Amino acid sequence: MLVVIDDPEAVERDLGAGRLACPGCGGPLVPWGFASERELRTLGGVRRLRPRRSACPACGATHVLEPASTVARHRDAAEVIGAAWSAKVAGAGHRRIAAELDRPVSTVRRWLRRLDARAESLRTAATWWIHALDASAGPIEPAGSPLADALEAVGLAAGGAARHLGPRPAWEAVVALTGGLLACPAPRRRGGVQGGRQAVP
Ligand SMILES: [Zn+2]
Repeated sequence: MLVVIDDPEAVERDLGAGRLACPGCGGPLVPWGFASERELRTLGGVRRLRPRRSACPACGATHVLEPASTVARHRDAAEVIGAAWSAKVAGAGHRRIAAELDRPVSTVRRWLRRLDARAESLRTAATWWIHALDASAGPIEPAGSPLADALEAVGLAAGGAARHLGPRPAWEAVVALTGGLLACPAPRRRGGVQGGRQAVP
């Protein structure tokens, strides 16, 4: 799987021009059909999604090109999980967040637990990008909890990416920069920075 911009025409252009690199060997990817269609639940309703598949002639691997608005193995878009994260940091409990987002309490609780477990990795990956995108960026002020610190860092990183690469929805940038948001490795497995690097904003 390779995280790409959520813009099918741009992906098609990049794929056709050999500008997307195989995550395995770095070789240029070529078009290879489509993944099966599925539903993506956004803040604004349900969207049909049919991600592009690609193949790497150099190593023989195939990779689904997942739009950065999605989170691997989740039916809800990154913006929905991001909204839950922001609400939690703002002081809301998971029941209230679930009611506001019209999602099951158990689902929201699971997202928040995962985000909590990955807060340090997310902060590390985002901080790496903040400084990669702006060498003069200063230190980040502690925001009061690991989840709040990580949210502050991913917000700054998304802002830096927008200034550098052009405006994109903030949560798309966060997925790209953190190597998948919830897929960002748990701290004990290390590699949060690597996870951020391999993604293409
Ligand atoms: Zn390859």
